[in-house]
This record gives sequence, C-alpha cells and structure tokens, in this order.
Amino acid sequence: MAGIESATLVGPLSRSTMPGQPQSRHAWSELLASSRPVIITIDGPAASGKSSVARELAQQLGLELLNTGAMYRAAAAVLIQAGLNQHSDPRRVVQTVDAADIRFDFTRKPPLIMAYGQPIESRIEDEDVTQLVSPIAGIAELRAHMVDRQQHVADTHPRLVSEGRDQGSVVFPHAAVKFFLKASSQVRALRRATQMRERGLYPNLEELQMQIEARDRSDESRRVGPLVCPDDAIVLDSSPLTFEQVVETLEREVHARVRV
Ligand code: C5P
Repeated sequence: MAGIESATLVGPLSRSTMPGQPQSRHAWSELLASSRPVIITIDGPAASGKSSVARELAQQLGLELLNTGAMYRAAAAVLIQAGLNQHSDPRRVVQTVDAADIRFDFTRKPPLIMAYGQPIESRIEDEDVTQLVSPIAGIAELRAHMVDRQQHVADTHPRLVSEGRDQGSVVFPHAAVKFFLKASSQVRALRRATQMRERGLYPNLEELQMQIEARDRSDESRRVGPLVCPDDAIVLDSSPLTFEQVVETLEREVHARVRV
C-alpha cells in the first residue's frame, strides 16, 4: 500500500508541472487521498435499508460498492437451479456455487451481479430465492467460499463500501469505519412493502414483518458468520430518519474518521 502511495508521489512530483496537473502540495495530497485504499462496512438486519444507503454513500465518497447479500442471493438461485438446498452435501454446494463463478461486473454502476458469466439481477429478489438464502448462508463451507471471494474483491477494488451481515465482524475486521444499521421490524416491513409496490407487488404487511423477523432470527442464530454488531461499529437506528438523513449521518461519521 505504501508502495502505491510513494510511486504516485515520486512520479508526477519529480517532473515539472504539466497543464492540468495539481499545482500545489495540497492538490497533490488530495489526489493521493483519492487513491488510498479504504474499506467501509455496513452491516445490519434484513430490509434495514443497507443496500440503498451503501450505494448512495459509495457514490458520494467516490468508492466502489460490494453488495454481499446479492452474492448470497445469487448462490441461492444457482443452488435452486441445480436442485440443491441447505440439506445437500456441503462439498457439492460449494462446487456448484464455485462453478457459477459469482462475481460483479464493476464496469456497471451499481456493479451488476453475475453467475455463469450472465447477469442474474432479475432473479435474485424472487420469493423462492429469498426463502432459501438465509438457510444456505448458514452452511459453513459456503460462507468460507464467499468470504474468500469478498476479500479477493477488495484486493482488486481496495476502495469499497461493503454491506452485508458479517462484513465488519469477519470479512473486513480492519475496516476503516464500520457501521451497523438497524430499524424496527415494523419500519423495515413498511419500507420493503413500498419498494415492492414500486415493482407492482402488494404484500400483506403483517406477513412481511413476520418473514423479516424470521430471517433476522435465522441470520442471528447461525454458528458461522452470524449477524452481529461489531464492538467497534457505529450503530445507527434509522427508524426515525429519512434516507437522506441516514446517508448524511454516515458521510459525516466517515469524514470525521478518515480521509477518503
Ligand atoms: O442483504 P440481503 O437481505 O439481500 O441478504 C440476503 C441474505 O443473505 C441474508 O438474509 C443473509 O442470510 C445472507 N447474507 C449473509 N451474509 C452477508 C450478506 C447476506 O449471510 N454478508
């Protein structure tokens, strides 16, 4: 990392100033800041608004986005297609998911989730995928595979906002800033229902709240990589806040802690 910084510093500064190059020491330090590796994690329960908040925060800070929930959802979709589930042989589960080569196309904004080299975005919110995702996310061998892939993403995309359940606790324990976003299950059900209505779906609110609470219990109670709030995370209850207020708060907290 130090290597990247010094290479950037030595090269351009050792030449005479060219048109369009930073003129002052301050401008150079700005340029260096924008190439510095930085990982920000956002964890929290289902439908806490992490995905949209993470997307906006990444955009505001000029960072890339890693939506790890989409990776687990893609894995669930691939396993359904292969006729596998949480009771299948874990080795077959991992082999099948590995063969699907779940990854993001980072040339798209936000990055597009892919399996078998094809976009799988339109499939991952389907009901059967949502039902299976938490049970298969409890398979220890599959989690090890996912953690590995997520850390590999950070090797090649070192300026990241990464969101999920175990990003601050397991995947990036040394993240520069960790957030834990929560909201009451009632508020989360209402927000999820609003999103679903925009897609022409009209869920029963009580049932939706019960499903969300069931997924929380399943995510919190698994042995490996459970949903936990890391000790060093900044906890934000978004229940009384608007989307913009949540993003502003997170942005302020980041700027108070690191130079991005
Ligand atoms: O974030 P989203 O609700 O799309 O995540 C879907 C599911 O994927 C979660 O309920 C959880 O079971 C699993 N997941 C996980 N670890 C992550 C991200 C998601 O186990 N880092």
